[in-house]
Amino acid sequence: MRVAQRIAEVPPYLFAELDRRKAAVIARGVDVIPLGIGDPDLPTPSAVVARLQSEAAVPANHRYPDYEGSAAFRQGCAAYMARRFGVELDPAAPPAGEVLALIGAKEGIAHLVWALVDPGDVVLCPDPGYPVYATHTRFCGGEPYPLPLRAENAFLPDLDAVPAGVAARAKLLFLNYPNNPTGATADLAFFEKAVAFCRRHDILLAHDAAYAEIGLDGYLPPSVLQVPGAREVAIEFHSLSKPFNMTGWRIGFACGHAAAVAALGIVKSNTDSGPFTAVQNAALEGLQLPRSVLEGQLAVYARRRDLMVAALRRSGIAAPSPKASIYLWCPVPEGETSVSFSGRLLERAGVFVTPGTGYGRYGEGYFRISLTCPDARLEEAAHRIGRLGA
Ligand SMILES: *Cc1c(COP(=O)(O)O)cnc(C)c1O
Repeated sequence: MRVAQRIAEVPPYLFAELDRRKAAVIARGVDVIPLGIGDPDLPTPSAVVARLQSEAAVPANHRYPDYEGSAAFRQGCAAYMARRFGVELDPAAPPAGEVLALIGAKEGIAHLVWALVDPGDVVLCPDPGYPVYATHTRFCGGEPYPLPLRAENAFLPDLDAVPAGVAARAKLLFLNYPNNPTGATADLAFFEKAVAFCRRHDILLAHDAAYAEIGLDGYLPPSVLQVPGAREVAIEFHSLSKPFNMTGWRIGFACGHAAAVAALGIVKSNTDSGPFTAVQNAALEGLQLPRSVLEGQLAVYARRRDLMVAALRRSGIAAPSPKASIYLWCPVPEGETSVSFSGRLLERAGVFVTPGTGYGRYGEGYFRISLTCPDARLEEAAHRIGRLGA
């Protein structure tokens, strides 16, 4: 068999190599604490589980879903956007509508690239960043142009530094705030600049808002659609995965720019048949949960963050304390690289973290810790890191 060139050209997946190293250490009998992947350990809220149980028994739900999501789901998403962000969206079906059900945000992000990008087109991708943006750009024959996220710029891209020739060839700009992997946040003033930049250069702004509900200490992350006129320029991706501990359920939605939503819908209707209707209905239950349910969980992340940041600082690592996301993005000690230090943490402390270079070359010099690990294990990891010294 000969695989397609686009598959052969995918750079060797750093995380696969790291998994092999982790397995080797575990095979030696080391009790490895996994702080690598961002997959919430807490259970899905019981109201959501109960709703799926009853919806799964409804025969009408056993048939093909509406590919764009049920009218009830789209209306529920629009109501959530209005309540949470003050953003009014039209939940009608495409091509006029502004809401589309997704089999998770990842699916929508990947397919949006197929809806926009022709060979030779540029896609502006944050670096470090979620790998899906650049990988699918390459699959389409497009050219990912890295936007460095640097500490001195609060991990926001410097859009003024994009050369005019690159901006002219760009079809799409990806942003993601609260950010994976850096934990950085963006305010409305930054989003206004990004909307103006995209309007000026006729670029679709795709905002990945997977962590929009993971603000800590009372911080409420904004939606890019709060910027006046943004819906003429921007599409936003929301996910139930991180806020409601539903990574296994595969449900999210895209909203905003009607023509972009419709184009994404054309790729999807020719690819998948939408999320299981019972899952859509259960997700609606999640979107309507009282804020206190979410706040209880955010308090867990804030506590875990504080205990881990304190342990890292005790061992000489200048860990910043993020006000959002489930990640700590920390500089490696002097004289180490991302890969060498992650390796040392694994070998010497039995703690598995991801090297910053797994998210792009501008991730060099950092490692990422995920807070999605039960408290007792996280405390044990903090203890081991504290003992290790830098
Ligand atoms: C987890 C994550 C997603 C994927 O969300 P799903 O809805 O589970 O597909 C998208 N973007 C970022 C940045 C993420 O970290």
